Amino acid sequence: MLEYLNYAKSLFINGEWLEAESGESETVCNPATLETFARVAYAGKNETERAIEAAAAAFPDWSQKTGRERSVYLYRAYQLMMEDVDRLASLLTREQGKPLKEAKGEINSAASFLLWYAEEASRGYGEWLPSSVPSKRMLVIGHPIGVVGAITPWNFPSSMITRKVAPAIAAGCTVVLKPSPETPLSAIAIMEIFEKAGLPAGVVNMVTGDAQAIGNAMLTNKAVKMITFTGSTATGKYLMREGANQMKKVSLELGGHAPIIVFEDANLEKAATLALASKFRNNGQTCICANRLYVHEKVAESFTALLKEKVQQLKMGDGMQEGTDLGPLINEQASKKVHQQYEDAIGKGAEIVCGGLHEGHANTDLKGYYFPPTVLANATDDMLIMHQETFGPLFPIQLFSNDDVAIQKANNTDYGLAAYIFTENTSRTLRVAEKLEYGIVGVNDVFPALSEAPFGGIKESGNSKEGGHHGMDEFLEKKLVSIAVD
Ligand code: ADP
Repeated sequence: MLEYLNYAKSLFINGEWLEAESGESETVCNPATLETFARVAYAGKNETERAIEAAAAAFPDWSQKTGRERSVYLYRAYQLMMEDVDRLASLLTREQGKPLKEAKGEINSAASFLLWYAEEASRGYGEWLPSSVPSKRMLVIGHPIGVVGAITPWNFPSSMITRKVAPAIAAGCTVVLKPSPETPLSAIAIMEIFEKAGLPAGVVNMVTGDAQAIGNAMLTNKAVKMITFTGSTATGKYLMREGANQMKKVSLELGGHAPIIVFEDANLEKAATLALASKFRNNGQTCICANRLYVHEKVAESFTALLKEKVQQLKMGDGMQEGTDLGPLINEQASKKVHQQYEDAIGKGAEIVCGGLHEGHANTDLKGYYFPPTVLANATDDMLIMHQETFGPLFPIQLFSNDDVAIQKANNTDYGLAAYIFTENTSRTLRVAEKLEYGIVGVNDVFPALSEAPFGGIKESGNSKEGGHHGMDEFLEKKLVSIAVD
């Protein structure tokens, strides 16, 4: 029996751990067992105002430190996280459900953002512009934007936080974080790491509780200059609309509907292995995970057979147990959506290649919201699954015979986050990659999210980049210094 975790003092404000003013708290549920196993503070407007005040008070000193000085704290935080991977991973699995091996991968990835931005902190280069007027010199310098409100989701409870907070504080900003109510424990653990790393009070703060009230406090307080958000497109649009009232910068990482195109010259073994990895990682609850497969008709039979064989080997269960490949879905709402897309597809003529509800659950002892990994053939464009984000282990296949049609279908969505192609042909790679309307194109690769690379979508998938030097740039305002020289 694992211990019950009481974090009634989960608010981290100005370097202190506090409870909600009302004394209210909310529970955290293990999605694999549906047991509540922890409690965190349920705060709102007042606590958020205090956190913003603390962040604003910390900003002048923090922003005036050199990049090198800020780098030291981030590097310490990186080391502390790497020393504690096992504990942090099991905490993450317990609140989020993903298999422990994936949770360890996520903690390593979360730490990699701390390391990368520890390095980038000292590289806030400006620009020297050759002027067209002989008596002028022009420089462009980057200024930290100010207090940043960071709002994060539950699907990557650790790496989504470091991917925002590390570049923000590397750039010289201060932060108020609001983690997802489903996964506050990983966020608390990250605050503890920053505290241990000796980060000055107020540089990073965290408020858990009422999303609407916390969001509203961030949106209406003039000290908050920027909101960085990862989550649903609907909430992202709301934040952008409301942020406009004070012309806040609103950086958004939203949903996706990634296509995978398997061309006839693809290495099918590689394509099937990676398509599976992309679709079923985190049980399909990843904004860049494959949502639909377009397979050339000449290779469809062989590819589908390979994919089926691999999917049938996946083991569904509690992520804490050795050998689990697929955990539960996060909650009932997520499960309902997957069921709805499944029923809709079957009703419109999709054929079950493997999985599906007729087989029942692989393990009837499972209590959480599990859905068997399922591949569907004969997917048609009118099915919900072909245009709504699934966030679950359902994989529809549609055949094609012409590259241009496959590209047109891949682009026929309001989303534009990630797309993947499998081909061994260089000309085709470049031709197709250039035509795909996505912020990220993976070529024989489904793991593009590394700390050194710019991650982000276009269209309704978002408007910013996280990772790489581009990720730190988001937190720097550009100032032109134009100097007349006698
Ligand atoms: P999901 O449906 O995947 O949980 P959301 O967009 O609802 O996606 O949630 C992502 C994050 O946004 C979570 O931390 C959630 O609490 C937060 N959130 C949801 N609604 C609001 C809001 N009105 N203001 C601020 N944050 C919000």
